[in-house]
Amino acid sequence: MQAIHDLVRDVPDFPSPGVLFKDITPLLSDARAFGQCIDALCEPWREASVGAVCGIESRGFIFGAAMARALGAGFVALRKKGKLPPPVIGMDYGLEYGRDRLEIGRHTLSPGERVIVVDDVLATGGTLEAGRRLVEQLGAEVIGAGVVIELEALAGRARWTGPAPLHALVRY
Ligand code: AMP
Repeated sequence: MQAIHDLVRDVPDFPSPGVLFKDITPLLSDARAFGQCIDALCEPWREASVGAVCGIESRGFIFGAAMARALGAGFVALRKKGKLPPPVIGMDYGLEYGRDRLEIGRHTLSPGERVIVVDDVLATGGTLEAGRRLVEQLGAEVIGAGVVIELEALAGRARWTGPAPLHALVRY
């Protein structure tokens, strides 16, 4: 995981003052490290009969789509408000500052389908938890979650409720 760690760039005060932004673009553009990252994200789920990987807009799409391909699963987008055509279901959730909304297409998952939720960064945990709840509202089963980076100081893991494991590749 050292290569992944070394290729995440800290950007202070972006996109707003006080935020230390974790820039994953150097990781994405390094063929070897990106491949290692996708392999590591998939590793816990190789024998798990995953039906779909749900990636969270927007950087979760990059990792989630590559994982779906590697696991022989489908890819489903969890998008920000107003981006998906109807019919959708949505969920509002709290961010560190303010609120946001995630949506999912109503017919994208089957009841009982085994799903992983994926994003680049776990910060306060509201985004990932909203994704989990949306998947469950469609009757699918969330068997776990994966993130590349966990920001431990923000304690997002505490908001990931239930028994499904949440795997993080690197922690800060
Ligand atoms: P949260 O709901 O607080 O866990 O925020 C997670 C979402 O916000 C993810 O989709 C991340 O892409 C983004 N995010 C939050 N904090 C950061 C950060 N410090 N650097 C990069 N992305 C972040």
